[in-house]
This record gives sequence, structure tokens and C-alpha cells, in this order.
Amino acid sequence: MAIVEVLESEGPRRRMQVRSPASLEPIGEFECASAEDVGVAVQRARAAQQSWAALSFDERAGYLVRLVDQFVARQDEVIDAVIAETGKARTEAIGMEVFSPCDAISYYAKHAKKILSPQRRKLHGVMRLTKTLRVVYQPLGVVGLITPWNGPVVLSATPLAQALMAGNAVVHKPSEVTPLSALVLKSLTEAAGFPEDLYQVVQGDGATGAALIESGIDKVSFTGSVATGRKVAAACASRLLPFTLELGGKDAMIVCADADLERASAGAVLGSCMNTGHYCCGTERVYVVESIYERFVEKVVERTRALRQSNSGEFDVGAVFSGPQLAIIESHMADATAKGATVRVGGRRNPDLKGLFFEPTVVTDVDHDMALMNEETFGPIVAIKKVRDEEEAIRLANQSDYGLNGSVWTSDLEKGIEIAGRIHTGGVCINDMTLTYGVPEAPFGGRKASGLGQVNGPEGLRGYCHAQPILADRRGKGKIQGGYPYTRKAEDGMQKFIRILWGTPLGRWLS
Ligand code: NAD
Repeated sequence: MAIVEVLESEGPRRRMQVRSPASLEPIGEFECASAEDVGVAVQRARAAQQSWAALSFDERAGYLVRLVDQFVARQDEVIDAVIAETGKARTEAIGMEVFSPCDAISYYAKHAKKILSPQRRKLHGVMRLTKTLRVVYQPLGVVGLITPWNGPVVLSATPLAQALMAGNAVVHKPSEVTPLSALVLKSLTEAAGFPEDLYQVVQGDGATGAALIESGIDKVSFTGSVATGRKVAAACASRLLPFTLELGGKDAMIVCADADLERASAGAVLGSCMNTGHYCCGTERVYVVESIYERFVEKVVERTRALRQSNSGEFDVGAVFSGPQLAIIESHMADATAKGATVRVGGRRNPDLKGLFFEPTVVTDVDHDMALMNEETFGPIVAIKKVRDEEEAIRLANQSDYGLNGSVWTSDLEKGIEIAGRIHTGGVCINDMTLTYGVPEAPFGGRKASGLGQVNGPEGLRGYCHAQPILADRRGKGKIQGGYPYTRKAEDGMQKFIRILWGTPLGRWLS
């Protein structure tokens, strides 16, 4: 079952129809931008970028603040669009798609000036006597933003704010599964008075995304699956184009014997089922030490049973956002049960609801020979494995091709920090489900197959720039040190200088 279908088209561009995963009713149609359309958008963006880059940080921040005003005033419009095309719970639409973007945009509007202003760097050693260095953060030009369907607004607005504050223009290719949210975001930027063509949306599927990479842009900011990430990396490599890849995960949760079991069990359920499990940093594997295993499972089962699933009214767990994802979730469950996993709650498509609904699920007796413990499932499933001790939990957490995030649950913070440092992932949370993406101060990015490069925080913001060092001679006149003509006398002097600088205690101290 696909939620996006290609329609018969009379014109040169392919048409697609989107249906709500919750009601299965059609909710919109769109035309896929061709390579020519993308090329035109990039040219226009390049023209708009020139005057945008000439604005001061305060002026750029003014536009972003007005965008936040629009989010606040029109939040229901954002929430309704997201729910229509994803079927996610309203609380999640508010928290992820309004609160988080407002927070991130405000952060970059406020802090970009400090992070990206030219920096004077003090030189070390003898060079400091004759030279000065400043590092200037220059915009790259036009950033190609390619985004997935699981957080259609937050995963677009957060990099958008960074790219814009850094002085770039943005051409955005949203997921074909969630094209409407991108149009709402575009409409908010228009109402905020953004310069025309500075931010453009080109709708389409992978073909439009591939065309964007080939269109002469200056950087790709990609969020999506590992499989597509590899294609994006190869395409960028052939054009020597800088890129960041924010890819999938298989996050582990380690529950130590001294964990607060109420909090940890609530964290396991929320971490696994939030956003119907379509969260890149969702909890995909839970390792629990044996002394607390039974009590923990009991609590998780009880909490999961209490979750309400629906396509209307007040509910906790919404629809699966896309047809192909439902097929993956079902195949992982079938593989796990065939290999001996025990389903404690759920474990199947919800028979009482018409749309794409998979019941909130708890599975135990899982092992690493199951796809459920190896591959990204991206569904509302708490998969729990009993381990002997914390050492075994750390070993198994690291036994993964992925390395996005993870969490450690313990009442001993020092122990939590020590364990976190041994987990090979981009980030780790202690006594919380993974919220790192929502903390704009934190650099965010995966290790291993989970990605390349980092977004967010000062590191991510600077990634939308070229850091240009400008080195100047203090005097700017007279003889150039070490210049022509080369003479034996000058060479002897240099060797003597080297012996003094790095061959004596005083010299070493000075250098
Ligand atoms: P996807 O890889 O199928 O698609 C992502 C985007 O890439 C879409 O816009 C798609 O149209 C486009 N695309 C497809 N083929 C392309 C090509 N050849 N060239 C350029 N663009 C192309 O991913 P998805 O299914 O939309 O999203 C779910 C995945 O995203 C999950 O694996 C999830 O973990 C991951 N994700 C990661 C993060 C993170 O920050 N690390 C955040 C959210 C989602």
C-alpha cells in the first residue's frame, strides 16, 4: 500500500497524489519538478543570495523572528497540515513541528551573530610577533536541502534557519510523502516577508532530489535513509560538493540495575512509540540487566497496554506515516516471531482501524540474529533484551552498523557519563529519551552508517559557511622574512634559531 501514487499526467511533469495514512483519503496532488525547473530555482536563489548575504546578522535575524511570529500565529495551520499527511498524534505535531522549530529558529536568530562573526585568533610562537590572523565565516551560496517525512517541518525549518543565518539561499526538496507541510512552511516565510526566491521549494521524489544535487548548488544538507544517503554521497563526491548526511539509527537504551524503574519504563515506551516510532533517535533496542528485568518488562507492558491508538479525538499513538514503512515493520515482526521472540502486547496491524495503524508493541526474547535488533524498524515497538550486566549491555549496544544516539538509565550520574563515553554513537542521553536534536546548542550527527558531518550547534551552523583564514603581516612593509636571495648566512641563522627555539627550555616555553 502506497500513500503516494503516481497519477496519469497530461503535461511534461509527473503528477503525484498523497493520501492520509490515517483515513486513506486523498488529501492533495502535486507536480514533480523537472531538472530544468530545479535549475531555474537554483539560478533564482543564487541571485537572491547576493543581497541576502550583504545584510547584517541583525537584519537576517529580524526575518527569522518574523518567521517565528508566523509559526505562533498560524500554529493550527502547521499542526493540521502535518496531521493530515502523517496521522501523527496532535501532541507530537505541536511539540515536534511547532515548539521545536520556534525554539531552533529563535536560537539561531539570536546566537548566529556571535558564532559567525569574524574571529581574531591569537597566534602561538614567533609568528605572533609578525602576523595577525582572523577567520571569516563566508556563506557558501545556495544550499540544497533534502528532507524526509518523519518530521516534515522541524527537519526542514531547523537547517533552513542555519543556512539562512549563515547568509545562504536555500532550495528545498521535501519528501514526496509529506509535500504539504513544506508548502505551509514556504507560506510562513512569505508572510514573514522573506526576499523572493531566497527560500524555494521544489516538490518531487528521488529524481527531483538527484536533479537538485546536479544543479550547481554549493552544499547538500541531507536527512533520510542510509540507502539514499549513500547515493547522495556518491553524487556529491563526483561533483566535489560538501554535504552532511543525517541518516537512520538503531538506538540502544541501557537500563542499569540502579535505574529509577518508573522513569525508565516510561522512557522506553515514549522513546519507542513517540511519532509512531518514526524518530531517527527512537529507542529501537532496550538492554536491561537481569536483576530488574522482570519488574521492568511488567511496567513497560502495563504502560504500553494503556496507550490509545486512533485516527481522531484524543490519542497517544497515531498512524504509520507511509505504506512502505508499514511493510518493513510487519516484516521485522514476522522475522522476530519466527526466530523465537515473544510478543507481550500488540505485534500486529490494528484490525479496528482502517488506515495504516500498527499496534503499540512490546517484544521480549529478542536477539541479534533478528532484523528487529539489527536493522532500523522505525515503528512503535519496544524490543527488550535481558543482559547479564552493564558490560554486556555496552557490548551489545555497540554491536550495530548504526551509531546515531542512545540512552543510559541509572541513578548514578558519574556511572552514566562513564557508560555514555563507551557507546559509539553521535550522542547519548542519560535518564531521558533522546532529545539531542531538540537542543540547538548540541552538535548533532551520527557515526558509522548513521551519517557524516554534524548539524546544529555552533559546529553545524559553521558547516553552512566556508571558514576563511585571513593572515596579515603586522607591518606590511620592508623585507619579507625568509625571502630571496637565499644565502648561507641566513640559513645558518635559521638553524641557530631552530636550536634555540625548540632545543632549549626557554625557547620551548616561548614557542
Ligand atoms: P529517504 O532516504 O527515502 O528519503 C529522504 C529524501 O531523499 C526524500 O526527500 C527523498 O525524495 C529524497 N531522495 C530519494 N532518492 C534520492 C536521490 N537519489 N537523490 C537525492 N534525494 C533523494 O528517507 P525517508 O524514508 O524519507 O526518511 C526516513 C529515514 O530518515 C529514516 O532512516 C530515518 O532514520 C532518517 N532520519 C534521520 C534523521 C537524522 O537526523 N539522522 C532525522 C530524521 C530521519
